[in-house]
Amino acid sequence: MESRNWIGGEWYTPTGGTMAVHNPSRTAEQLGTLYLSRPEDAVAAGHAARQALPKWAGMTGAARAEVLYKAAELFHQHLDSLARLASAEMGKPITEMRGEVMRAVHILRYYAAEGVRAIGSVIPANGKDVLQFTKRVPLGVVGVITPWNFPVAIPIWKIAPALICGNTVVWKPAEMASLTATRVTELLAEAGVPAGVLNLVIGEGATVGQALLDAVDLDGVSFTGSTTTGRKVAAACASRNIKYQTEMGGKNAAVVWRDADLAKTIPALISGAFSSAGQKCTATSRIIVDRACFDEVVARLADAIASIRVGPALEPETYMGPVASQAQYDKVTSYVRLAEQDGQVLARGRTDVDTTLGYYVLPMLATGVAVDHPLVQEEIFGPVATILAADSFEEAMALCNQTVYGLSASIFTQDLQKALRFLEEAEAGLVRVNLETAGVEYQSPFGGMKASSSHTREQGQAALEFYTQVKTCAVYYG
Ligand code: NDP
Repeated sequence: MESRNWIGGEWYTPTGGTMAVHNPSRTAEQLGTLYLSRPEDAVAAGHAARQALPKWAGMTGAARAEVLYKAAELFHQHLDSLARLASAEMGKPITEMRGEVMRAVHILRYYAAEGVRAIGSVIPANGKDVLQFTKRVPLGVVGVITPWNFPVAIPIWKIAPALICGNTVVWKPAEMASLTATRVTELLAEAGVPAGVLNLVIGEGATVGQALLDAVDLDGVSFTGSTTTGRKVAAACASRNIKYQTEMGGKNAAVVWRDADLAKTIPALISGAFSSAGQKCTATSRIIVDRACFDEVVARLADAIASIRVGPALEPETYMGPVASQAQYDKVTSYVRLAEQDGQVLARGRTDVDTTLGYYVLPMLATGVAVDHPLVQEEIFGPVATILAADSFEEAMALCNQTVYGLSASIFTQDLQKALRFLEEAEAGLVRVNLETAGVEYQSPFGGMKASSSHTREQGQAALEFYTQVKTCAVYYG
């Protein structure tokens, strides 16, 4: 397969260079080729989006909804082939990837329905015979910059609300998910997204992404990715006074209290830390355990880690695939070495698969490092979890909050008072009781605190606030 740009309703192959795409489960296999854009392509996409804006913004929400309903139908129809492409491209196990495409179907339906929902309020006026009300209008042209780890769901949870609100979009996906992005765009085009309303620009972040921020006439930017890049996006948008949202990294903690139901807790910890090979912004990276049950939790986790099925992403029995790329492999294995050098490895997964064939990193549970150690403070974005003991609930809370990040946090306990205190005191945008740290529902607001987010929220009704601006209207009829 080859990537293509879609700009102003035309498919074309950009000329900024090529890049071979290899299957991370079997790196000898070349899946396709990416054709990279030049900064001028981003500018052309911006022009196309600006030109298409008045007509799209002027359509009724109901008419825009028809396109999203049709897209939902097509994504459903092509669920398996799209999931297989994405699994092959970035290594997420096929069962998880099918779930992700299904989530995209639900998101498309959810935002389609928003096309006919009331989005304003009538506010009593002080003057007589004045009707005062608010209405929401589109932002305009929106830049969408996405990461590779949810190659279908994240783009759709940005593009669908942007479109239903009447915006037009320039989308720059991560290079590592650009074959999937091309297919996603083909399906949206087939669903009837008009020329210029969505524009796909494939290319490198540092050149094409940066050109989108610096040289394209945008009214808003929605970004998901690392905190380092997100800060650059925020600075560029702030200097242009463009509305932006940045959803960034996490260092999510799961607290296990002595009264937790371990039969349910252990599978939730395993899924939180190791599904998607730990490459979720909401993955459980720190496990903080009441010392009273520390040894038992470690023993049970070690057993569970030993039985994690590691293998090629496209095999249906695989629970954990490879990490997504050579860069990911190098980064994650540097933390594995740190754990071996500075700490103590409590458990390591095993597999019969020849791990040299792909970017496989076996799941690992580590301990024995100070709280300021990189293993406890830095986002690893891989299947490495660090476990810490706490002597009191207060200490557990302090450890939980001792991070610059604030995306997601969980507690496992039967004690209602501790559960409620946790919901109150944990410094995270998603706080959960007896549920893993990962697990985002499209109908709820999603976003982090501290260095994890620009403090805006995505998904649910929150997305409609981001992709619109409010006008306060007043009509004198006396
Ligand atoms: P990056 O920040 O490296 O990249 C994200 C996107 O930004 C990519 O499309 C990238 O392009 C682009 N980009 C890179 N540099 C620039 C630039 N100077 N200007 C404009 N765009 C640029 O993150 P990853 O793709 O590696 O994703 C992993 C990160 O994403 C993790 O830190 C993770 O926590 C975070 N994440 C956060 C989520 C959340 O909702 N909070 C959800 C999922 C992931 P390219 O890759 O092509 O160079």
